[in-house]
Amino acid sequence: MTDKAPIANALLRRASVPRYTSYPPANHFTAAVGPDSHAAWLHAVPEDQPVSVYLHVPFCRRLCHFCACRTQGTLTDRPIDDYVTRLGMEIWRVAGMLGRRQRVSAIHFGGGTPTILRPDLLKTVNRDLRAAFDVAEDAEISVEVDPTEIDDARLDALAAMGLTRASIGVQDFAPEVQNAIGRAQTVEVTAWAAAELRKRGAASLNVDLIYGLPFQTSASLRATLETVKEMRPDRAAIYGYAHVPQMARRQRLIPPDSLPGPAERLALFEISQRMLAWAGYKPVGIDHFALPEDALAVAAREGRLARNFQGYTTDVSPVLIGLGASALSKFPQGHVQNAAASGVWAQAIDGGRLASARGFALGPEDRCRAEIIDRIMCDFAVDLPEVASRHGFDLGHFAPEIARVTARFGDEVALDHGRLRLTASDGRFARLLCAEFDGFLARSDTQYSRAV
Ligand code: SF4
Repeated sequence: MTDKAPIANALLRRASVPRYTSYPPANHFTAAVGPDSHAAWLHAVPEDQPVSVYLHVPFCRRLCHFCACRTQGTLTDRPIDDYVTRLGMEIWRVAGMLGRRQRVSAIHFGGGTPTILRPDLLKTVNRDLRAAFDVAEDAEISVEVDPTEIDDARLDALAAMGLTRASIGVQDFAPEVQNAIGRAQTVEVTAWAAAELRKRGAASLNVDLIYGLPFQTSASLRATLETVKEMRPDRAAIYGYAHVPQMARRQRLIPPDSLPGPAERLALFEISQRMLAWAGYKPVGIDHFALPEDALAVAAREGRLARNFQGYTTDVSPVLIGLGASALSKFPQGHVQNAAASGVWAQAIDGGRLASARGFALGPEDRCRAEIIDRIMCDFAVDLPEVASRHGFDLGHFAPEIARVTARFGDEVALDHGRLRLTASDGRFARLLCAEFDGFLARSDTQYSRAV
């Protein structure tokens, strides 16, 4: 019998690992995939294939210290107006390469701060999208919302666009924590935004929280979770803060000694799991919770949970079209990312080109590993013989991985004729187990976040 605690502790001390919102992770994308592959993959989308669309808005009024997203602060609307004009050009260019008004089953506005767009700009983007694409009547229209950057006119514009789902950034309500992360946001303004989004048609509301923030304590996180519980979102996501100041320069404003240590971090993670479970939420994947009747919880129960660049989703379309600077697209053939710098993206759009700058063409083994990693992230289990054979491999191909998992994970992973299952229900080892099947990790010098 293996002594579980030492193995668990050793695993959690291990090197940081990717979040696996794609396989391979975006740091393995190269310029070998650019506009030519992107155009060919758009041309190859079947006529009857509904696609998902992601629009990236890279602007923010405030630049939160913890945030590692590539965002641009702006106090004026000028760059935003120009950006929306080019976004319209990109929408029509991509639609032209598809060769038809492709059916769209889901549209997601992410950022940055999508709600920084004035109502007239939201209307412009919506008009271009609906003219260039055949947006399904029942399409999911979701928006990431900063409660401090939204008003009645924008809420009305979102409602007119057919908003069905919204995600509100909260992180933590404790003033000391908010002060340290440069993100002042009262409970009142957050509750107001949540209530108004519901009135405007957001049938599903998500709240984003973070554990491991500077000056965050068990008491402050408990208080935040109590407040969130009263708002009764349909979903909550709680992510571990990744302190990588060498990559995210803004994080240099956060003193390292204000951050909870590994043991406190683990305690914060466990508090969030317990409190959300007590409040009636079902765990979904490694960092999401949803009310039992919410589509995400239903998908998790029925083994239909999927993963895309934004995290967990019910969207299973094999094609995701990313628009805007740094936006990521997904095709059965591989992944593509637009130029991350707005200026470079703008030059490509003005020059009549696709703005893709890098990507990755998937081979048979990459596809197989991607599916193994997806199933572990979504189900905490994978039927290796079944997945491997569908991709043309036999179980023996993964013998080294199975041997490593057996040696490293002990009782944390149950192994039955090649079927792997994490024995702990909270998925804290999921990313570490995925890492065992990551064919790129050994070659990577990227510093990822801690698994918990
Ligand atoms: S957390 Fe949101 S508002 Fe803050 S900098 Fe990041 S994208 Fe902008």
